[in-house]
Amino acid sequence: MVIVGAGQGGLQVAESLRAEGYDGPITLIGEEASAPYHRPPLSKAILAGTMEEAQLAIRGAEFFERQRIALLTGTRVAAIDRSARHVRLEDGRRLEYRGLALATGARVRRLPVAGDELDGVLGLRSLDDARRIRVALDRAARVVVIGGGYIGLEVAAAARKRGLEVTILEAADRLLARSATPFLAAFYADLHRSQGALVELGAKVVALDGQGGRVTAVRTADGRSHPADLVVVGVGIVPDTALAEGCGLACDGGILVDDSARTDDPAIVAVGDCTARRTGTGTPLRLESVQNAVEQGRSAAAALLGRERPFTAAPWFWSDQYDVKLQIVGLSADHDRMVLRGSPEDRRFSAFYFRRDALVAIDSINRPADHMAGRKLLDHKTMITPEQAADESLPLASLMRPGR
Ligand SMILES: Cc1cc2nc3c(=O)[nH]c(=O)nc-3n(C[C@H](O)[C@H](O)[C@H](O)COP(=O)(O)OP(=O)(O)OC[C@H]3O[C@@H](n4cnc5c(N)ncnc54)[C@H](O)[C@@H]3O)c2cc1C
Repeated sequence: MVIVGAGQGGLQVAESLRAEGYDGPITLIGEEASAPYHRPPLSKAILAGTMEEAQLAIRGAEFFERQRIALLTGTRVAAIDRSARHVRLEDGRRLEYRGLALATGARVRRLPVAGDELDGVLGLRSLDDARRIRVALDRAARVVVIGGGYIGLEVAAAARKRGLEVTILEAADRLLARSATPFLAAFYADLHRSQGALVELGAKVVALDGQGGRVTAVRTADGRSHPADLVVVGVGIVPDTALAEGCGLACDGGILVDDSARTDDPAIVAVGDCTARRTGTGTPLRLESVQNAVEQGRSAAAALLGRERPFTAAPWFWSDQYDVKLQIVGLSADHDRMVLRGSPEDRRFSAFYFRRDALVAIDSINRPADHMAGRKLLDHKTMITPEQAADESLPLASLMRPGR
């Protein structure tokens, strides 16, 4: 078994192959220098300085030995030959496979404006990126974050916590436009403003200005110039589909997979940020989360062994900003009703979203118990009413069907 990409998803495929009883050779190939590590803390505790890099490793060296997983770090796969069933490494070596998993993740989207290449303009995807941003934060006074998505907002929070001047420039008319409801977006705009960050909506960046090769300001379409000695660009990611496309696998904004992580080639599965899941509606579902990488990794290992373990659980995700923990479960797009449990003023509440009377998603702010109960409700498609959801006197766990 050969796995390309030694991140969250790739490691999970390897672990699950062993858990499923596969006893043959497993090779896990990653182009980064580090063994698989947790990415979420990169924009949170690592920038805040409250976590050591050594704590990022998902598994220690002894784990790979014990599980007989051959980990090749600093090694890039250059191509896949599906008819010969081998992968070619950048150094020319070839590795044959019986089953192949693609877990190549994603790359940060570049900003298509002049000045994108100036020193002091940084994106965040890898540990190396986080190291660069941490050093830059130590020296910066004024930080401009381009993009009001989760990563941009988490970096902004870390910079504000360090007492730096922070401006968030978001081109859309609200934060988190791609992934959260307008209600949650407004909550986060208020949160950042209350912590002293400047949040500019409808702010389209047209150029980055510099002096002596270093960024000095960000210019927006309204003619304004926002001074900066560090610019963090968080305008989304591009799934890394190069290898898959190179060998003719179907891709549509990600490597197309089914619920069991299978591609069109029965010998090849794909997991995590590089994938887009085929759905009944025709629009492939792209999720960028730890849960997605882990669940697809489990499904993929089973599929490689000819077993069926579809990933059908409700999607969940979290984000930490300042002292606010957000936990999301389900997909809230197209909801037609929202009710609240708890109080936004206290920054402790859950928003329940319904579509045609069915619960479809819950956003919990500093209410982890609601989130955990909500995952069970959604996974088991339990019917609850908006009135029950809003009634604080009714524990959510009591709404579960008996026996769940
Ligand atoms: C800063 C940050 C914060 C995040 N916070 C959260 C969070 O709070 N909650 C959450 O749920 N998710 C969060 N995420 C998302 C989550 O980390 C990802 O969804 C998850 O890591 C995806 O795992 P993956 O295995 O698909 O990709 P990755 O973990 O990116 O691994 C892919 C690996 O493949 C390697 N690779 C690519 N091409 C090749 C090749 N040709 N040869 C060899 N190796 C190759 C890459 O170098 C990379 O190491 C965050 C992500 C980032 C960057």
